[in-house]
Amino acid sequence: MSILTVGTVAFDDIETPFGRAEMVIGGAGTYIAWAASYLHDSVNLVSIVGGDFPKEELAMMNDRGIDTTGIEIVEDKNSFFWAGRYHDNMNSRDTLKTELNVLADFDPVLPDSYQDDDILMLGNLTPEIQIKVMDQLVKKPKITVLDTMNFWMDIAMDSLKEAISRVDILTINDEEARQLSGEYSLVNAAKVIHELGPKYLIVKKGEHGALLFHEGKMFAAPALPLALVKDPTGAGDSFAGGLCGYLASCDTIGYEEVKTGIIYGSVMASFCVEEFSLGRIKQLKEEDIKQRLQAFKDMTSFSI
Ligand code: AMP
Repeated sequence: MSILTVGTVAFDDIETPFGRAEMVIGGAGTYIAWAASYLHDSVNLVSIVGGDFPKEELAMMNDRGIDTTGIEIVEDKNSFFWAGRYHDNMNSRDTLKTELNVLADFDPVLPDSYQDDDILMLGNLTPEIQIKVMDQLVKKPKITVLDTMNFWMDIAMDSLKEAISRVDILTINDEEARQLSGEYSLVNAAKVIHELGPKYLIVKKGEHGALLFHEGKMFAAPALPLALVKDPTGAGDSFAGGLCGYLASCDTIGYEEVKTGIIYGSVMASFCVEEFSLGRIKQLKEEDIKQRLQAFKDMTSFSI
């Protein structure tokens, strides 16, 4: 199976208790594609960047097998820019700046070669764009996953709900699940969100792992306790990349596959947070991923 993903490819300014990084490479689409590329060799990325985005970064993605034909380059404009500051517990952050720049007039056009992809990963960006991508696909993908954030709930709730109504898996964090559903209990939030459309709800809880809700069943994956968390930016997107990368290797996709996919997602997220920007993700070896999967298995297996 092949993966089609759409998401921001961007610059970030990040401040954490461990330091600052300015104008580093970020963007939901960037993290998703990089993380998925370690688990699957066919990843197609749709996005938009300005003339300020380094061409070498796109070349590096191509070297990893990520197809960037679907990234539009607008030479006379700037790329999407986001600045955030993390609190001491690293689980919460403030957005200091969101400059849409090229994203403001993005009208995605899918290359024909992206039409047959089986997994559609709608990364965090304008819900209207997520909808436009779904509309352009002639054949419905086997699985569509959508990630979003409170920013879009605040300014575009109606179109976000329309986008959500068309997907199979929704991944959001616990606060966003509460905002979207109007319910504090995540169990009740899941019921409301299932009614909006998605059969699977994945609630990301930062250092407390992730929860999966599906047809009255629940599965919990921990986050790997790490000695050093330098920068949580992109953890949710790396999680989504790991999930889709694993699902792309499955012949059929059901509850069991999504459960395992969540572990792969958690593994990729655990690497992401170890360095600023994509510092760690770009250096991964197959062996690192195998060892970390085993660490998750050892940490969670027990006998009764
Ligand atoms: P995450 O930490 O998984 O939420 O992802 C952070 C990445 O998402 C950063 O690299 C940002 O460039 C990007 N980002 C931040 N805000 C937005 C937004 N409103 N829409 C799309 N991408 C965003």
